[in-house]
Amino acid sequence: MTLRVLNTLSGEREPFEPADPNNVLLYYCGLTVSDYAHLGHARTWTHVDVIHRWLEQLGYGVRHVENITDVNEKITARIGEHTDDDTLGDSENDVAVHFIDQLLTDMRSLNLKRAEVYPRVSEHVPEIIDLIETLIEDGYAYEANGSVYFDVTEFPEYGKLSNQKLEEVEAQGPEAERSEKRHPSDFALWKAGGVGENAIEEHRDADHAYETDSPEGETWDSPWGEGRPGWHIECSAMSMTHLDDSIDIHMGGRDLVFPHHENEIAQSEAATGEQFAKYWLHADLFQMGETKMSSSLENFITVEEGVEEFGVNPLRMFFLSASYNSTQTYSEEAIEEALERWSRLETAYERVNEAVDDSDAKTKVESPLREVVTQTREGFTEAMNDDFNTREAIAALFDLAAAAHSHLDDRETHDYVGLRQTVETFEELAGDVLGFDFAGTAEGDATLAGELVELVLDIREREREAGNYERADELRADLEELGVDVQDTDDGPTYGL
Ligand SMILES: [Zn+2]
Ligand SMILES: [Zn+2]
Repeated sequence: MTLRVLNTLSGEREPFEPADPNNVLLYYCGLTVSDYAHLGHARTWTHVDVIHRWLEQLGYGVRHVENITDVNEKITARIGEHTDDDTLGDSENDVAVHFIDQLLTDMRSLNLKRAEVYPRVSEHVPEIIDLIETLIEDGYAYEANGSVYFDVTEFPEYGKLSNQKLEEVEAQGPEAERSEKRHPSDFALWKAGGVGENAIEEHRDADHAYETDSPEGETWDSPWGEGRPGWHIECSAMSMTHLDDSIDIHMGGRDLVFPHHENEIAQSEAATGEQFAKYWLHADLFQMGETKMSSSLENFITVEEGVEEFGVNPLRMFFLSASYNSTQTYSEEAIEEALERWSRLETAYERVNEAVDDSDAKTKVESPLREVVTQTREGFTEAMNDDFNTREAIAALFDLAAAAHSHLDDRETHDYVGLRQTVETFEELAGDVLGFDFAGTAEGDATLAGELVELVLDIREREREAGNYERADELRADLEELGVDVQDTDDGPTYGL
């Protein structure tokens, strides 16, 4: 039974055959850090995490890279924006770092396997410039007024991912660029100057107060003068730097197929003459009612709020109950159902675990439970090999849960071996592969962390009462260094992790 994946490039389910099974190269197009990550991001992250885990379960070695877009006019637009007690930051980089800190915390709270590298655009400008120079030398790109554009007419396969002919492709980039481009669909690799005021105005939010009226984005020196990289080129440069010219899997949201991924293919393959990525996997949209959950619509629930309110396991159950390439809609009922399903799975696991502890291993009873274990493993494997169908994989686990309950309800002497196999199956398939945390360490850590913070706050209170204000301030600063935000209120100090 081999893994088959739905490849956007061919529109077909293809057998998965990586170039080097010991080193599957996986790139995930990550976030632009102009806001906090929301449940839509958490959903895709969870699916990428499970794909990573399933590849390892099949015996592949995985090298997983996820970029962070920290150069973008949406970030620049938030320079100087007021928060409750401060601003988001006084430079593009400060704003980006503010959101990156939370992003890394969010990822940990979701029990995700770490990517090998989280490269940032601001740290890869030399690689980006090198790639653009190659494209110019080879005749695929041209300079105009200090900007550089990719010439889509020079790449005959342009449109192959989004399945369009060049005549059908819409114009790209802002109106103001048109006069310097040879073809309306040409896209910017390098933009002269800083971020234009119009671009910033477009992203500034009338509801927020700003300390700075005329923010400036970072600029870098280049062979074409001061400027900034275009958006698409970053992923080509970072994928080539941290993985290879040609990789196995490139993943992202469905909304990235055009233009982002189409452009990544054009500029990468033009530069290297090799296939950029063999399999293009796209996660479908996460809806809030009728619309997409998105930062620009401000209809989102942040990852931090979601994890705090629902818990990481129920959220995972919710996300995995629809496969990565089907649309999922957020609703309170759907979350409640996931909470209930997680608790059913956890209850079954705990009950069987206790029964194994209580069992008399000397009584040799055989039961059909062992057969159900085998069927569950087969059903689970078949589902996951069918383009990572997590919905069906979870269904197989519930069949095992039901069989285990009836075994324990109906029999007086229990099949010790069958029960032990059941526990192992839950731990391996639900735990290691689907990433559920039966031991509760994800929550347990949060609780312990909370208790430790309380302890430090108590010590700080006592220092204050004793008049040692300097020491109290140091403790507060130490906590803040660890990412714990302490607020003194009339009811005593409160904190956010
Ligand atoms: Zn990409
Ligand atoms: Zn990308």
